[in-house]
Amino acid sequence: MAKRNNVDKAITVAREVRQVLGSMGITGEYSIMRHMMNFENVITYEGTHDIHLLITGLDVTGLNVSK
Ligand SMILES: Cc1cc2nc3c(=O)[nH]c(=O)nc-3n(C[C@H](O)[C@H](O)[C@H](O)COP(=O)(O)OP(=O)(O)OC[C@H]3O[C@@H](n4cnc5c(N)ncnc54)[C@H](O)[C@@H]3O)c2cc1C
Repeated sequence: MAKRNNVDKAITVAREVRQVLGSMGITGEYSIMRHMMNFENVITYEGTHDIHLLITGLDVTGLNVSK
């Protein structure tokens, strides 16, 4: 749950910063796109965002809906 929420918040903040910087946000002059790519990576490894939600749902409800 901590990993899922942490990564979700981090990428939300990174996307917001990219927006704040406007067109400069997609240039190499600022490193925000590099951070965004790193966060896109973390969404996948050590359990994807969706799989973590399924695991949390299983723990809370006892129902395995991934089958
Ligand atoms: C930079 C990086 C480093 C990595 N390092 C390691 C490492 O050191 N050791 C290691 O063992 N692995 C490593 N991995 C692999 C990583 O753990 C897997 O990529 C990850 O578990 C996702 O598996 P997959 O790529 O096979 O995607 P898949 O399992 O094919 O999933 C594809 C998509 O489908 C979704 N999905 C899958 N099953 C379901 C379902 N039942 N219900 C709903 N949605 C579903 C997933 O959430 C995902 O969005 C690394 C990956 C990356 C990107």
